[in-house]
Amino acid sequence: MKVLFCASEAVPFIKTGGLADVVGSLPKKLLSEDMDVRVVLPKYRLIPYADICRMEHVCDFTVDMNGQNVYCGVDTLTVDKVVYYFVDNLALFGSDRVYTGDERECFRFAFFAHAVLEILPRLDFFPDILHCHDWQTGMIPVLLHGWYQGDERYRGIRTVFTIHNIKYQGLFSFDNVRRCLGLNDGYFTPDNLEFYGVASFLKAGLVFSHFITTVSPSYAEEIRTTYYGERMDGILRKREKVLRGILNGIDTASYDPAHDVALGARYSRRDHGNKRLCKAFLQEELGLAVDASAPLIGMVTRLTPQKGIDLVERVLDDIMRTPAQAVFLGSGDSGYEEFLRDAARRYPGRIAACIAQDEGLARRVYAGSDLFLMPSLFEPCGLSQMIALRYGSIPIVRETGGLRDTVEPYNRYTDKGNGFSFRNYNAHEMLYCIEDAVRMYREQPDAFERMVMRAMRADFSWKASAAAYKRLYAQLLAQKG
Ligand code: ADP
Repeated sequence: MKVLFCASEAVPFIKTGGLADVVGSLPKKLLSEDMDVRVVLPKYRLIPYADICRMEHVCDFTVDMNGQNVYCGVDTLTVDKVVYYFVDNLALFGSDRVYTGDERECFRFAFFAHAVLEILPRLDFFPDILHCHDWQTGMIPVLLHGWYQGDERYRGIRTVFTIHNIKYQGLFSFDNVRRCLGLNDGYFTPDNLEFYGVASFLKAGLVFSHFITTVSPSYAEEIRTTYYGERMDGILRKREKVLRGILNGIDTASYDPAHDVALGARYSRRDHGNKRLCKAFLQEELGLAVDASAPLIGMVTRLTPQKGIDLVERVLDDIMRTPAQAVFLGSGDSGYEEFLRDAARRYPGRIAACIAQDEGLARRVYAGSDLFLMPSLFEPCGLSQMIALRYGSIPIVRETGGLRDTVEPYNRYTDKGNGFSFRNYNAHEMLYCIEDAVRMYREQPDAFERMVMRAMRADFSWKASAAAYKRLYAQLLAQKG
């Protein structure tokens, strides 16, 4: 079976969030299941220079963007046996940000969609499955459906569209989309791309793909409701027969405290004495009081309203009335960044605020913290809580989306569970939960220790999920036959 992943980011080349982790790790796992899985990405200038130097040029041609011929180069690089292709156009992908966040995105990702379909004959690689990820690739199924059906080499391709976050919808004016792709008026109707007066790339993917997946079973249910659906719930209810939630995994070889080179000391479930050392190193690195008895709460996150920083802001002083310390690593909205910097100034030695994107430090926070906070407003899957569990940091989460599917709340009567959770998006519910966790850390160290053991034992590898994707692909191909 031949599968082509199309996405706007993938580890190890370019990452702004969990999408990159997924696209960087799932193909590797599928490859080991005897499938030919390749990945196509934009060639951003931000990709590490060493990788750019190792790429080989495959071909170049021009893509017809509604009458305008636009240069498209294709480079390739193989990493961990996965073949990656990079769509090159420096004018479009040469900026110092992955996403420009404005109307230019329309042309960038319309071009990317068109280029992906145009490179197939040039690579002589016609996949059975085109697996598209998030709104940036939403136009691929549309173009495949509208423009390429006359060519029998394209006709058999089945498309899967995965929603990693329904909040990001790729909304642009009709004029802009028309200018880029020259689609006819029939596409700009409520049954197709129209979305409250504009065109949506995300909706395009939802309407035109053969199958839709999202990244956890709970999120698959939630996005069919008005509360979580971000106004896409109608189309998702309409297509619910072809919508499925498949939980993400993490790259357990990369996220492994026994071999993680970013850590000052390594440890495993069987021998995790060095986790204490990691905590002391982290406290020292960030200027916190080096104190083993202070429960250290970590947070590694994009700073957007999704991630629940508002709750932290509301009860920060109450949290600091417990003996806890906190480390925040994140970047994003300037208001949240300022709040965190200010919190660190107000609580020197007890709060550290690192406003950065720093993979190594992220790993040291997972390893060095005792508790890991994720009070998300919504969370499609969430990888951070899985990484935290693997590093023996106990998650405190809101019961939503993938957090609900991966964190089992502690039950003191049965001594089961691997974390703490609260139901409503409410600062005091979160606070009580943090207080519980802190109390347990201080007063019941043996029970806390057993919970750490259970956390580190949990299996978040791609094994089960890759098998689920494989079954889904096979099912789609069987329907075609
Ligand atoms: P999302 O995709 O919504 O950002 P996830 O929990 O699915 O959230 O994935 C987040 C990923 O990005 C994790 O691998 C996390 O460690 C990483 N990450 C988030 N913020 C930072 C940061 N400031 N520095 C380094 N890594 C980060």
